[in-house]
Amino acid sequence: MANVVAIVGRPNVGKSTFFNRLIEKRQAIMDDISGVTRDRHYGYAEWCGKFFTVIDTGGYVTGSEDKFESEIRKQVKLAIDEASAIIFMVDCRDGLTGFDKEFANILRTSKKPTFIAANKADTPDKSMLAAEFYELALGEVYPVSAENGGGTGELLDELVKTFPSEGVEDPDAGIPRISILGRPNVGKSSLLNALLGTERSIVTDEAGTTRDAIHSYYKMFGKNFILIDTAGIRKKGKVKDDIEFYSVLRSLRALEESDVVIVVIDAERGMEAQDVNIISLAQRQGKGMVIMVNKWDLIQKDSKTADKYKKEIYEKLAPIDYIPIIFSSVLEKQRVFQVIEKAVNVFDSKTKKIPTSKLNEVILPEIERYPPPATKGKFIQIKYITQVAARFPSFAFFCNHPQYIQPSYERFLENRIRENFDFEGVPVRLIFKKK
Ligand code: GDP
Ligand code: GDP
Repeated sequence: MANVVAIVGRPNVGKSTFFNRLIEKRQAIMDDISGVTRDRHYGYAEWCGKFFTVIDTGGYVTGSEDKFESEIRKQVKLAIDEASAIIFMVDCRDGLTGFDKEFANILRTSKKPTFIAANKADTPDKSMLAAEFYELALGEVYPVSAENGGGTGELLDELVKTFPSEGVEDPDAGIPRISILGRPNVGKSSLLNALLGTERSIVTDEAGTTRDAIHSYYKMFGKNFILIDTAGIRKKGKVKDDIEFYSVLRSLRALEESDVVIVVIDAERGMEAQDVNIISLAQRQGKGMVIMVNKWDLIQKDSKTADKYKKEIYEKLAPIDYIPIIFSSVLEKQRVFQVIEKAVNVFDSKTKKIPTSKLNEVILPEIERYPPPATKGKFIQIKYITQVAARFPSFAFFCNHPQYIQPSYERFLENRIRENFDFEGVPVRLIFKKK
């Protein structure tokens, strides 16, 4: 059970500053373990041996209060739904505002443990100002300074007492991270919008091209997954080259962070060089893959069209031929969820472990039937096979002359493994070891 704390409050009270303070130490450790820098709207914190996830709603909402009021309301509701406790942040120096009162009204309906953090209480005299917020009638008020850390200990001591559990050290372990990649205009944003309708995080359309991808948590057909969304940040460059450049850069970054990539292509344009590059890179990095041929509605079809189309794609990708291809139309809502379901399946295949006994029982007879050809007068004997721990499925073949295994035979073995143990969409590595 993960403990989740949402920090809510109107803009500029210091939510992000406080968030960063909470996650600072632990986030560094998490980044170190996973090798990726995560979305800063979610972070991991620890206090007195209890682990928790922090949501910074300030990261979702920026800008003036009036413009975003309804979005804030929606966002805060979402955060509250997910949270096990809430830190409601207000600003001592501004005092109680009408907007604070509106927030308090939303929070009162939540029934979740709520803590008022009266921020910017940098000095004792400023702390006195915090008393005003008792008027909100949401319980204890904690004067804090997000900037210098004052008062945060007292708040956190009480906060962690409300947690239902000790928390989990790595809440993302085992949850597939899926990114949606593809050239501009293939339908990535449309796909994301179709998947979550209006509930997607609010991203304000501010200048700047280099903002990181957003990691959003989803739950569908009983499965949790994280979508790494690069689509919301496109179309920012003034010139076409800029857009291309950033789209490539972001794709590479998102690829690195994901377990499975959905490569979206435009049915009318077909597989292009950039797509082939992404796929061969994904293969080398051991990522799971799904190809989504979108805008299938625009194609004149007969019963053979899909098969022909698939064949063309595999020709361009040769020798890679194990990636599932889904023909979709986001516009006509065809096979949209299937794409995600497929990606989750690919993740499951990617993370499964075939027992050694099963592997030998199935593959050794295949080898007996078609043994490796003798090379330089040496007979090659494969004695046993085992799946070794790695980022993606890797199989060690123990044999007497590993250096003499030919690429064509390696290919034969890979195909037998794929035939018998469903690794659709997943790169598979074969390692030959001396025994
Ligand atoms: P958010 O919009 O609620 O996320 O607010 P930010 O974290 O972006 O902070 C808004 C402004 O308040 C920034 O200029 C911060 O430097 C400042 N700020 C945040 N916490 C404190 C604090 O404890 N004391 C003082 N004096 N300023 C703070
Ligand atoms: P992105 O740049 O990859 O995020 O692409 P968008 O989602 O912005 O889509 C680009 C254009 O393609 C928009 O005009 C969409 O309405 C359109 N589009 C997206 N999916 C489909 C589809 O399945 N069929 C058709 N005909 N148009 C689509």
